[in-house]
Amino acid sequence: MNKPGFPSASNFIRQIIESDLAASRYRQVVTRFPPEPNGYLHFGHAKSICLNFGLAAEYGGRCHLRFDDTNPTKEEQEYVDAIKAAVRWLGFEWQPHEYYASDYFDRLYQFAEALIEGGHAYVDSQTADEVSANRGTLTEPGRDSPYRNRPAAESLRLLREMRDGKHPDGAHVLRAKIDMRSPNMNLRDPVMYRIRHAHHHRTGEKWCIYPTYDWAHGTSDCIEGVTHSLCTLEFEDHRPLYDWFNERVAEAGFFKPPLSKQIEFARLNLTYLGAALSKRRLIQLVEEKHVTGWDDPRMPTLVGGRRRGYTPGGFRLLAERVGVSKAHQVIDFSVLEDCMRDDLNEIAPRRMAVLDPIKLVIDNYPADKVEHMQLPNHPQKPDWGKREAPLSRELWIERDDFQQQPEKGYFRLFPGNDVRLRFGYVVKCTAMKDGVVHATYYPDSRSGTPGADKYKVKGNIHWVSARHAHAAEVRLYDRLFKVPEPGAERDFLEDLNPASMTTVRAQLEPSLAPAKPEERFQFERHGYFVRDRDGAFNRTVTLRDSWKK
Ligand code: ATP
Ligand code: MG
Repeated sequence: MNKPGFPSASNFIRQIIESDLAASRYRQVVTRFPPEPNGYLHFGHAKSICLNFGLAAEYGGRCHLRFDDTNPTKEEQEYVDAIKAAVRWLGFEWQPHEYYASDYFDRLYQFAEALIEGGHAYVDSQTADEVSANRGTLTEPGRDSPYRNRPAAESLRLLREMRDGKHPDGAHVLRAKIDMRSPNMNLRDPVMYRIRHAHHHRTGEKWCIYPTYDWAHGTSDCIEGVTHSLCTLEFEDHRPLYDWFNERVAEAGFFKPPLSKQIEFARLNLTYLGAALSKRRLIQLVEEKHVTGWDDPRMPTLVGGRRRGYTPGGFRLLAERVGVSKAHQVIDFSVLEDCMRDDLNEIAPRRMAVLDPIKLVIDNYPADKVEHMQLPNHPQKPDWGKREAPLSRELWIERDDFQQQPEKGYFRLFPGNDVRLRFGYVVKCTAMKDGVVHATYYPDSRSGTPGADKYKVKGNIHWVSARHAHAAEVRLYDRLFKVPEPGAERDFLEDLNPASMTTVRAQLEPSLAPAKPEERFQFERHGYFVRDRDGAFNRTVTLRDSWKK
């Protein structure tokens, strides 16, 4: 059996892990999910979370939550808290393995001094412009810095002065001494530390030098004993550097083999989101108020998806279905929607809701009579029991369940036609007068009573008793962008879907009145809906793919 969230098909990462385990290379599989706390997590992160936590669970290992907080100015506690909530919401737990790259600053600094002493790093005093001018290009080799061969003692002294705040931002950097002529630009003496007199959300004013991603990431993995460090494909060219740093630190005696291993996989890309699936663009949508916030139900953030009614199970299913590969791939947005439908179909009780109401009056039904119909909560799950829905003389029905002049193939209400009120009576439509549909009912046609089957009708419509209805706002959400590749032809903002939200005043069956925020339902014939914190219901997804061409 597969653990939730684990990509069930065999994949290349599993094969690597299994061969490592077969060779007894590691005692236990240790992975990590390493978000930078500079924004809210998006759908892409869900893939990485499911993969890292899923693999660890599958192989009896553990997954760390590591905040990659090496960048002092951007990170905030709000994001840390939101990230933790999102990982838990997806169904994963990391405790007690919660780590912060900033907790390793002391050790990283110690390693850096050891690299200088070993002749593997130097303080470069070129200006930023000189550093980039001397880096070369993809076709031209770089040039050695004039400071490259300064004595180790001098580099050490300068690094300590940098650490002690004696130099302004940009005056010096610490660089690894690798190869300015490497065809891999990442190996052309990459920067390890830069000076930044900036406040850090955890270390405060303690540091004014901060490590780069490349220097901090692999070393943090080794400090934690991570065995398989999974990351997205854009880091493939960084792998030699990842290994180089860890090997040098190991030579200096700080790490023991086996060292952490970086493995790259293709990031999740979705049509209708495209480039918007990145924190930078999401921040823009929020700051420029194209959406109401990070948790706007149209946002591809996990907080947005949650308010939209997307489910943790749906995201785990998505991770399973898209699997992992080394090849760049773009997944059709409908795959995500299908995963949500498939999960919601299993977990969402059924309800009746009229989204575009008109009145139906059953003229031969006594005005003061109320009957309580028994409606199954889930057609395939009898153990979920039934609920009662009151039926009375005046009902709300959908406007498009009536046609004065029926078009060809129309089986619902039109004058002279018989239709079943779902789980209730069969009615004969008589007329439409002053915007109200009139009908008479057959008292012996009540659903579930003996003989009721003798009524053979083709139409079956939902309804809500007008007197008992719970009126509520329903927000009909749709895709945020209207084209499959937002931003491909013009600014991505111009591709926003103007119809991504419409609001209707709906009439709902009374059992929906006490629904709590985040309770999810299928509104029969309409789709899946979730209650929002303001009492409105949000449409999560329609029952069928309405975007299919
Ligand atoms: P963004 O590109 O949105 O700014 P990021 O990669 O900068 O995201 P991080 O916080 O650094 O965001 O990401 C944490 C982890 O999530 C990383 O391991 C990263 O590779 C992974 N990740 C980010 N985006 C995706 C994606 N679209 N698909 C799969 N994994 C992703
Ligand atoms: Mg990043």
